[in-house]
Amino acid sequence: MAPRQSKPEVLKKQQRAPDDTLDVIIVGAGLGGLGAAISTLLSGHKVHILEAASAIGEVGAGIQCLPNSSRVLISWGLESTLGNYATTPKQCNMLGWKGEKLSHMDFHEYEEELGTPFWDFHRANLHMGLLERARELGATIEVNARVADVEYIEAGSVTRAAAVLQDGTKRTADLIVGADGINSKCREILLGREDPPILTGDLAYRLLLNTEDMLKDEELRGFVEDPQVNYWMGPDAHAVNYVLRGGKLFNMVLLVPDDMPEGASTLAGNVTEMRELYKDWDPRIPKLLNLCESVYKWRLCIRPGLDPTWSHESAAFTILGDAAHATLPYLASGAGMSLEDGHVLGLCLGRISGKSTIEKRKALDVYERCRRERTEKVVQRGNLQQHLYHVHDGAEQEERDKMFQEFGKFNGR
Ligand code: FAD
Repeated sequence: MAPRQSKPEVLKKQQRAPDDTLDVIIVGAGLGGLGAAISTLLSGHKVHILEAASAIGEVGAGIQCLPNSSRVLISWGLESTLGNYATTPKQCNMLGWKGEKLSHMDFHEYEEELGTPFWDFHRANLHMGLLERARELGATIEVNARVADVEYIEAGSVTRAAAVLQDGTKRTADLIVGADGINSKCREILLGREDPPILTGDLAYRLLLNTEDMLKDEELRGFVEDPQVNYWMGPDAHAVNYVLRGGKLFNMVLLVPDDMPEGASTLAGNVTEMRELYKDWDPRIPKLLNLCESVYKWRLCIRPGLDPTWSHESAAFTILGDAAHATLPYLASGAGMSLEDGHVLGLCLGRISGKSTIEKRKALDVYERCRRERTEKVVQRGNLQQHLYHVHDGAEQEERDKMFQEFGKFNGR
């Protein structure tokens, strides 16, 4: 494939006069919040982050970053830091549930074409890289700071906003950015009503295996020695796996029908029940699951579009990431969309002059126009993948498999 894009340039921090510098509060120090902080700081504004958790620690498991996300990360100056923690898989394989290979996509060829890599991370490494960069650029971070409400403060041509914390104290800013994830309070504040995430009918078992045991097994060692991303598609369920931390950890995600009690979002899972669900699959899957001692279940929800707009009419409050458009993880794109949101928001804020409501509104309008259609498509496409990946054996499955095989041929394989 011919190169279509070159590697991005590393962005330099803009210099701004004090009366041209916004005070921005970001709610949530997750992937999207830290990304928005970096991009906003690079545009020359000031950033204070409010994080509900009592400490910023190691949460989550594997995250695949597709070339669109690594492009953003590289432009933020993170190539050398994150490159140390990333695994660069050779290809992605699509398999039937019994293990038959349908097609593959050569990641290295796509990297050459797109100019940026496929990177797989432990979320903690990606998060820490973003956190360090945000701090280096001047972000301040307050933990134990759960935002419960937002108030608006009008002063002539400028409207500011105050984030009201759970303890009643307030933090004021020219702009508040809600990046508080799928169970977003900011989304509800913006809408002025309750708005729980929508159940998808699926849950994810997420497990991390130590690869030492895998290396002792002839059938499993290839997963570690030759890093690739594998998707198995079966009736009502699928499975994904890939290597992390240079081969030290193996990430598995099993996507199955949701059987969690009402109201739960994460629970300790039962390993025996999980193994039972995959006992008849490609024999390598039960073998891998036998190496697992404990597991967590994550209920999978989505947030389809947010109407009428992502921002408050005062132009002093907006949202991004999962708070605006959480998707099923079936395209490995939720974090990528959050990072892209932050990148675009920061770039838009970098192009305004002064702090007036009119200027901020221009930036927020362009931000939303750039982001809405793309992110809504990803949510819809995630729903379609749910159907495609979980088809029962029969005519539809044969048609789907043919489609994947054609895709392989189309890509020259
Ligand atoms: P989060 O990362 O959830 O951050 C929200 C932050 O806000 C948290 O720190 C939280 O403590 C804080 N917060 C919450 N409420 C408040 C409040 N009221 N006040 C202050 N702080 C608050 N994406 C990919 O791109 N690739 C993948 O391979 C991938 N795999 C996934 C696998 C699974 C099983 C799942 C469930 C998701 C996966 N995702 C993946 C999606 C990805 O994890 C999310 O899309 C991404 O983390 C969203 O980032 P965010 O910043 O919007 O929210």
